[in-house]
Amino acid sequence: MKRILITGGSGFIGSHLCEKLLNEGNEVISLDNYFTGSKKNIVHLFENPYFEVVRHDVTMPFFIEVDEIYNLACPASPVHYQYNAIKTVKTSVMGAINMLGLAKRIKAKILQASTSEVYGDPQIHPQKEDYWGHVNPIGKRSCYDEGKRVAETLFMNYYYQNNVRIKIARIFNTYGPNMHPNDGRVVSNFIVQALKGEDITVYGDGLQTRSFQYIDDLLDGLIKLMATGDDFLGPVNIGNPGEFSILELAEKVIEMTGSKSKIIFKHLPSDDPLQRKPDISLAKKSLNWEPVIPLEDGLKKTISYFNNLVGS
Ligand code: NAD
Ligand code: UDP
Repeated sequence: MKRILITGGSGFIGSHLCEKLLNEGNEVISLDNYFTGSKKNIVHLFENPYFEVVRHDVTMPFFIEVDEIYNLACPASPVHYQYNAIKTVKTSVMGAINMLGLAKRIKAKILQASTSEVYGDPQIHPQKEDYWGHVNPIGKRSCYDEGKRVAETLFMNYYYQNNVRIKIARIFNTYGPNMHPNDGRVVSNFIVQALKGEDITVYGDGLQTRSFQYIDDLLDGLIKLMATGDDFLGPVNIGNPGEFSILELAEKVIEMTGSKSKIIFKHLPSDDPLQRKPDISLAKKSLNWEPVIPLEDGLKKTISYFNNLVGS
């Protein structure tokens, strides 16, 4: 049995990770300030004696004895991370410093939830880990993109200078149950709009692309990455290479929900990346991992989750 700290443990990804690591027989501590996360996502785990919950902000130091740390705390939806941009930078940067300092002191392994956003609006397609990216350092998304880039820098330097046992996962767009209905990201927005019979809001012409990964595939990838030997650090792309335009996604959601919703076009947010698709050869080779859940199957499960939520 390992003792594992998950920052951002009540959020979308964190709550699933808490559950999976508990089911695998570990002791899990969720740390969260509930900015975008919800106790509802983890309340069913409260009766498990090996689960603990801490209300804490990662921008403040935190001390605990654990074997592994998954550093997930950070708002991930553009609407939420731009709401208080300075706080987003603090969460990424000071959160990384605090968690790396903890990992150094207690000699824990630490995994950073980095992002495909470090590639910005990519000029190389699909994106490989050795691509340095194309990020606007002063744009609306920079609080998140640059915050995550500095976090990667910190992780690497804690490894170079202090031999901290680090892992960096570059996560591509992930979706599934436990996303907040007002999260603002495209999959949850479209499903909730379709189920309520509201207009489906496509930003721009909808020809921009994303690659959508179902949560279960991501969890497998993260856990396999954490289990690698100390000589494998990443960064490694964890995503589903299936690439869809936003318009295709809208049409698929309408079809799968049998909704009468209409597609409307709205203003494209600034610096919205035109295309995104991971090259996952490194993950295949080093983690023996690749996603197995096609978009339709993942959407089916996600639609059923939101159907219950909207219905109730
Ligand atoms: P989420 O918003 O659902 O979860 C983030 C969690 O972090 C929330 O529970 C929130 O309350 C918590 N949090 C935020 N600021 C905090 C702070 N200062 N102190 C403590 N807790 C704080 O988002 P998610 O989709 O679950 O993303 C989790 C992590 O994965 C994030 O770091 C995100 O950048 C990364 N990621 C997610 C995706 C994706 O598609 N979901 C893609 C790339 C990277
Ligand atoms: N998007 C959209 N309608 C929405 C929400 C998002 O067309 O209601 C678009 C958004 O402009 C972007 C894509 O969907 O091009 C993915 O957006 P999301 O916020 O999910 O993630 P990110 O842009 O960070 O990949």
